Amino acid sequence: MDLTLTAEQELIRESARELCQAELVPHAQAWDRAEELPRALVGTLAEAGFLAAALPEELGGGGLDSVSYCLLCEELGKADSSVRGIVSVSNGLYGKTIANWGTEDQRGRHLPGLASGEALGCYALTEPGCGSDAAALATRAERDGDDWVLNGSKVFITLGSWAATAIVFARTGEPGPRGITAFLVPTDSDGFDGRPLKGKLGLRAQDTAELSLDSVRVPDSARLGDEGQGFKVAMSALDNGRISLAAGCVGIAQGCLDASVSYAKEREAFKRPIAGFQLVQQLLAEMHVETEAARLLTWKAASLADAGLPYTTEAAVAKWYASEAAVRAANAAVQVLGGYGYVDEYPVAKYLRDARVTTLYEGTSQIQTLIVGRALTGEPAFT
Ligand SMILES: Cc1cc2nc3c(=O)[nH]c(=O)nc-3n(C[C@H](O)[C@H](O)[C@H](O)COP(=O)(O)OP(=O)(O)OC[C@H]3O[C@@H](n4cnc5c(N)ncnc54)[C@H](O)[C@@H]3O)c2cc1C
Repeated sequence: MDLTLTAEQELIRESARELCQAELVPHAQAWDRAEELPRALVGTLAEAGFLAAALPEELGGGGLDSVSYCLLCEELGKADSSVRGIVSVSNGLYGKTIANWGTEDQRGRHLPGLASGEALGCYALTEPGCGSDAAALATRAERDGDDWVLNGSKVFITLGSWAATAIVFARTGEPGPRGITAFLVPTDSDGFDGRPLKGKLGLRAQDTAELSLDSVRVPDSARLGDEGQGFKVAMSALDNGRISLAAGCVGIAQGCLDASVSYAKEREAFKRPIAGFQLVQQLLAEMHVETEAARLLTWKAASLADAGLPYTTEAAVAKWYASEAAVRAANAAVQVLGGYGYVDEYPVAKYLRDARVTTLYEGTSQIQTLIVGRALTGEPAFT
């Protein structure tokens, strides 16, 4: 029982936990080894209402408040971060971006298919030449009558080769953030190619792809938001995404703690359970405190979002702290498990590999630091 949650939120957490235990945990190691998730899993996630859980009910979503959605992402993060990523991109980077910026026609066209799992989406901002400095992107969209013609490439795109539609950010005007526009691009368009990237350190089962756009033609009705508004669209999506990512990191950290406590009680050294050694207890206690702190920072950002208040800085704080805490927790868990922590018979080696990307994507820890620094001083150290 968590005193800060309502009974309904406790119920949401419990049912998410049950589904994760039944459908994900028993298979996560095999999916990781195979570097592949079964596509049928998308149907399972849709049936459970996860893919559009955080979208408004009037748009076919589950209408979950942000704190409840964090509970779902925490359970998924604990069970399998590759699957958590599918749910986060579907709800946040893709679904909410269309819900917030799309026309009625665009919402009607894309969101029901997302909720049912028939048509996933992806968010394509990063390019081979720029990630943190997203405003420097080079993919171009040129006007041609009533159409736009897109040329360029994107890299590291989650669900890039599974998605039916990609939100593609492209340059339509001046250099810098004001010259960028967002487009909803069908991935079966002529000239659109998505190639899965293999050999990742973690999130091995999740689809991550390189995209190339070679004279891809879309009508002006595919524009998401106004011309020149694309950077704003991209950054608002990341504010949302960072909260669910932080919640996923809390799940990783909690999973590491649970696995470590249970192992430490069983494993004996020097004729006693290692749980009784003070230096092992220190590792466990640090994990516990950091997990709790990460969870509360995440819920704070989510509560601000639910109250309709600004949350950009709080989302950055939560994402920064929770991702670094997840990496520290996973590293400590490997230490507690000794040699057994280094093989994937136990979940902690995978937690460490999966956690590692969380300090990189949706803005590196350095970028989160600069967002917080900007909020504190009013001085942007980057544009
Ligand atoms: C598995 C995975 C999934 C991803 N999914 C997506 C996705 O779905 N959609 C998408 O668009 N992108 C996605 N990304 C891309 C991710 O968001 C970028 O990798 C990330 O933003 C960092 O960009 P970069 O890799 O180009 O690193 P760079 O920007 O080149 O950074 C390299 C280093 O320089 C540091 N640095 C850069 N600028 C500064 C600065 N001003 N001050 C201090 N340090 C700085 C960074 O912190 C980092 O340590 C994904 C990446 C991975 C690995």
